[in-house]
Amino acid sequence: MRPAEPRAAGASPEVLRIGGRPEHLADTGPADDAGDSEHLTILYRGPLSSCDYDCSYCPFAKRRDSPERLRADRAALERFTGWVAGREHPVSVLFTPWGEGLVRSWYRRAMVGLSHLPHVRRVAVQTNFSCRPDWLAEADLGTLALWVTYHPSQVAYERFTDKCRDLVSRGVRFSVGIVGLPEHLDHARRLRADLPDGVYLWVNAAEGHLYTDAEAAVWTGIDPLFPYSRTPHRSAGRPCRTGDSVISVDGDGTVRRCHFVPAVLGNLYDGTFRRRARPCPLAVCDCHIGYVHLEPTGLYDVFAGGILERIPSIL
Ligand code: SF4
Ligand code: SF4
Repeated sequence: MRPAEPRAAGASPEVLRIGGRPEHLADTGPADDAGDSEHLTILYRGPLSSCDYDCSYCPFAKRRDSPERLRADRAALERFTGWVAGREHPVSVLFTPWGEGLVRSWYRRAMVGLSHLPHVRRVAVQTNFSCRPDWLAEADLGTLALWVTYHPSQVAYERFTDKCRDLVSRGVRFSVGIVGLPEHLDHARRLRADLPDGVYLWVNAAEGHLYTDAEAAVWTGIDPLFPYSRTPHRSAGRPCRTGDSVISVDGDGTVRRCHFVPAVLGNLYDGTFRRRARPCPLAVCDCHIGYVHLEPTGLYDVFAGGILERIPSIL
C-alpha cells in the first residue's frame, strides 16, 4: 500500500456530495475523532515489509520476509496489542504496514481482538484485501474498518469488485482507493460506476506526477476530494495533531509524531513518551495519513467519524 499513498493540496476543495449514506452500515457515530483529550490515535508500522502483490510503483512488491523477520513482526504486534489492551483511555489504531498485513494471521487476529475492546474506538488497516474475508465474521464491525487499495495490474476487476460486494453484504466499513495514474483512469471510472454510492472511492495523486487542471478535473469527477491529494500541503510551523493526540509507533515501541518526521519522542513501553502539541517541522506534508491531522486542512470535519479508514462524513 505504501507508495500508493496519498498526496495533498494547498487550497481546500469544494466538498461535493459523494453519494447516499451507506445503507449497509450501522450508525457508528464519531468513533475516532471525538475530540476528548484522553483519546490517543496510533499509526502502527512493524517490521513486516513483504507483499503478495507486485505493483510496479512499489519497492515492497513481491518482497519476502525471512522467517526471523516474520517472527519478530508477530512478537512486536502482539506486544503492541497487549499494550493497547491495558490502557484505561480511548485508543484508535491504524495499521500501516510497509507490505500486506492481512495475509498474516497475526494481523487478522489483532484486528479482531482490538475490535472487541470497549476502549478501542476504531481499528483499521491499509490493505490490498487479497485475503479471504471469513475472519471478519469474528470482529466487532462497529469498531473495525478497512482502507482498501485497488491495484489493477494485480487482481482481476471482477474478483476485486466481488470482494467489495462481499464486504458490503457483511456490513464492513471500508473505503476503496486507486492511484491516479493515467493507465488507471478507465479502471477508476468503471469502479466508481459499479461501487454502491455509499462506498467512497478515493484517488491518490501519483508520486511525482503533476496534474494539469484538466486532468485534475477528470480525477475530481471520480473523487470529489481529489483536490486535497493533488499537491502537497504546506505544513511548516502549522499546528498538527501528531505528537499529541496522534502518534506513530514502530515494532520496538519507538514513538515518532508521524511516519514522516524522524525525531524520536520516546518509547511507548518504557513510559518515556509524553504527549505534547508541536507545530510541523517539515515544509510540506503530502500523504493523507499525515495531512489529515494537519489542523488547517479542516479534514477532521470532512472525515468526521471515518478519519482512519478515510471515509468522509458526507457519505
Ligand atoms: S499492494 Fe503490495 S506491492 Fe502493491 S503498493 Fe501495496 S504493498 Fe506495494
Ligand atoms: S503535517 Fe504531516 S509531516 Fe507535519 S507533523 Fe503533521 S503528519 Fe507529520
